[in-house]
Amino acid sequence: MASRPPTLKRKVLTARHEPEPVAYGQGRGGRPWRRLRDQILKRDGYLCQCVACKARPVPRVAHEVDHVRPVAEGGTDDPVNLQAINRDCHKAKTQAEALRGRKR
Ligand SMILES: [Zn+2]
Repeated sequence: MASRPPTLKRKVLTARHEPEPVAYGQGRGGRPWRRLRDQILKRDGYLCQCVACKARPVPRVAHEVDHVRPVAEGGTDDPVNLQAINRDCHKAKTQAEALRGRKR
């Protein structure tokens, strides 16, 4: 009996794209952050603490919590480095920070 040629079986090794594990507890979105965020919002009376709002007669309502000194610039999650901030103010501040980061 003639031996059969080795089968050229194609290996089924399709790379599965596993979803990236969500890093809970680190940075935004984690439960510890949410608790801290609520604490800061309460502390600041749910009012935006940004420079622009402090100069206003009536500050905007805060929806978010912002790092006074950005994490990218060495800021921490310490409550002294956190302030309640309005969504739109936050957007403007983050944009300014990104621009600053790009220049460096
Ligand atoms: Zn503001």
